[in-house]
Amino acid sequence: MTQKKICFIGAGNMTRSITSGLVKGGYAPQLIHATNPSEGKLIALKQDLGIRVSHDNLQAADEADVIVLAVKPQLMQQVCEEMSGLNLKDKLIVTIAAGVTAERYHDFFKQPIQLIRTMPNTPTQIGLGMTGLYAEQGVSEQDRQLCEQLMQTGGETVWVEKEEDLNQVIALAGSSPAYFFLMMEAMIDSAKQDGVDEQAAREMVQQAALGAASMVKQNPQLSAAQLRENVTSKGGTTAQALAAFERAGLREIVRTAMHDCMDRAQEMA
Ligand code: NAP
Repeated sequence: MTQKKICFIGAGNMTRSITSGLVKGGYAPQLIHATNPSEGKLIALKQDLGIRVSHDNLQAADEADVIVLAVKPQLMQQVCEEMSGLNLKDKLIVTIAAGVTAERYHDFFKQPIQLIRTMPNTPTQIGLGMTGLYAEQGVSEQDRQLCEQLMQTGGETVWVEKEEDLNQVIALAGSSPAYFFLMMEAMIDSAKQDGVDEQAAREMVQQAALGAASMVKQNPQLSAAQLRENVTSKGGTTAQALAAFERAGLREIVRTAMHDCMDRAQEMA
């Protein structure tokens, strides 16, 4: 694939993880430029990856074919409005910020833009992420592929057809690592209350979670329900535990939680 000039506005955690993946994957470091107000992160990126770095958002964006917006959502308006004087006609804009809609980017830039919104989750930082992607009409196939390449440095990607479908991605993948953390936290706490050493409980729970996720992934022909049934003997210990979850209405709780998550995403947009 042709390598285009990419600039990252904001050189925080996400930029470090994406640029590291790109360079490790063979992307030419001299085509990557990251900007940031403070010095430390830039020096580290330059030393570690050999990419170009500067404090100058405008110059970096002007020279780039692809502009990746990687600042916190609350800074997005200011950062985009500063760039609105540039000619963005032939550039692709990729945003990784949560909760800022395409319509708002059009307002910030005040000119026609080609935009892809991405919705990464936190495990992206360790290469096990899931990122939702939404491309506006007019984005070329080549740019879609390039954006996929960027975000696959952090794991897997999924395209959505409609922007509002990103809210489902948030409920299913963006916020959901925390649902699993809560489950693990509750299991560890329960074991601690029974006198089990915390570290030992953590090791058992984390390995069980990893094993369960891997079994789902490695057996695409089996549903999660089928896998659950396969490990549940009638009258056995697992059946007893699962019955407690069902009695407490776990399925309804999960449904409410996911809808509340999507409602919040909609409100924040
Ligand atoms: P981060 O570590 O805080 O990075 C943001 C960077 O932007 C900081 O280095 C900050 O510099 C810099 N910055 C501030 N003002 C700027 C300006 N005017 N011009 C250029 N850079 C500026 O945040 P992050 O975790 O990488 O997240 C970046 C975006 O990804 C956010 O919008 C977040 O919602 C989204 N996201 C992150 C994750 C995740 O797992 N981290 C997951 C999903 C989505 P200083 O520190 O020097 O102020």
